[in-house]
Amino acid sequence: MSFDSFGLHPDLMRAIAEVGYSTPTPIQVQAIPEIIAGRDVMGAAQTGTGKTAAFTLPILQRLMPYASSSASPARHPVRALMLAPTRELADQIAQNVSTYAKYVPLKSAVVFGGVDMSAQTQQLRAGVEILIATPGRLLDHVQQKTVSLSTVSVLVLDEADRMLDMGFLPDLQRIVNLLPKARQSLLFSATFSTEIRKLAKTFLNDSPVVIEVAARNAAAENVTQVVYEVDRVESKRAAVAQLVKRQGLRQVIVFTNTKIGASRLARELQREGIPADAIHGDKSQGERLATLEKFKKGEVEVMVATDVAARGLDIAELPAVINFDLPYSPEDYIHRIGRTGRAGASGRAMSLMLPEDQRLLIDIEKLLKRTIPREKLVLMRAPREPFTPRDDRLAVDSPSRSRTPPTKKPTDPIFSEPYQPQGAALGVSAAADTSVSKPEASANGSVATPTGVPSRASLSSIRRGPRSVPALLGGKPKA
Ligand code: AMP
Repeated sequence: MSFDSFGLHPDLMRAIAEVGYSTPTPIQVQAIPEIIAGRDVMGAAQTGTGKTAAFTLPILQRLMPYASSSASPARHPVRALMLAPTRELADQIAQNVSTYAKYVPLKSAVVFGGVDMSAQTQQLRAGVEILIATPGRLLDHVQQKTVSLSTVSVLVLDEADRMLDMGFLPDLQRIVNLLPKARQSLLFSATFSTEIRKLAKTFLNDSPVVIEVAARNAAAENVTQVVYEVDRVESKRAAVAQLVKRQGLRQVIVFTNTKIGASRLARELQREGIPADAIHGDKSQGERLATLEKFKKGEVEVMVATDVAARGLDIAELPAVINFDLPYSPEDYIHRIGRTGRAGASGRAMSLMLPEDQRLLIDIEKLLKRTIPREKLVLMRAPREPFTPRDDRLAVDSPSRSRTPPTKKPTDPIFSEPYQPQGAALGVSAAADTSVSKPEASANGSVATPTGVPSRASLSSIRRGPRSVPALLGGKPKA
């Protein structure tokens, strides 16, 4: 099957040809005709399946009759609203929309929290047909009357399961109440849990088309997995450096369970001469987007990430991921290894395991319904640092995923001293980031407390947080 069979507008076909897609992915084959036909769709598909194009292309096709080169805001009312749980995901969708709409005079904008509203406000005032948003920030704009949702004819809820996990249901309800009843609604979720089905009943029409392209908990077939047994944390740091160097890995995400662990490993790799940086919930939005951008460009070769920061990120043709720590939740293992082997490419997932982490591996293997080959990793060089009895699991990025919650207060100075960004330009003006004098929101929009545990109260306060921080971004970092 080819893209020709969908009857997409030549300007969309031109953009598709330019990004080099020749064959639609399974979710695209199933969803594109249904969405073009105006039906509600409930799609079970994870990031990596091509789901963004599966909903964006047909939406653009449906909006083609409204495309207008007029500068008048009145000619560009919001017609499609795409909601995503995290800023990174929203930004990623926005990039997809810009790519596919390159030759079409339909305007799009992305709004998410953690950055000042005024640049977003300007964009909204100028008029956009396609608005990509995280729920909290969208409501802030609604409250400030910078956007009206009364003209929306297509609603997309992306990663709906994550939105529920993150407590966005009340916000979603508020948003949906502002939309016209007669609209097309599309819901995408990695899994169809009972809660997701309930959500679909409320937000979608009575008989949505149900599309499932990946079985629940299915790990990508084309990912080779291996577990390396190592004796202690310091050996793990040396092991990562060795794997990266020996295998000549030029683009790899290394997952840690903790924010401290991520920063420390990135520093260690930098000392080894490997271009590395960390991305986690304690980093500002500007820093995270800048690191991601550098990683995509190849300036950063190893991105050390926690689950919260990495969820939903799409990096084309990532050849490998390394689990520095085995995740506490086996589902996270599947998400992590799903960062590689995307859209049909082959990938390699390597995990480092300490003797005490056997249990975590057993849980993962139970979920995968298969065993992962174990190998002993012979270190070519002694670990760099002497062993210090520091618990790397103290700053867990995602409390809900931790089975072993912290029991003692961390003493690492990283908690008491302000974060010092490493390396060169961070891509966003320093004034912009420091202007937000409140706890930083993590990738899930929640707030990191000193132990890395986001509180519900602070979560809602940041989403409803101060509205007077100065101007900075139009949704994307300025290079
Ligand atoms: P997504 O699941 O939307 O995050 O997409 C995963 C990756 O697949 C993105 O990098 C897309 O650019 C890519 N992709 C989407 N559709 C296709 C296609 N038909 N052929 C090849 N790659 C694609």
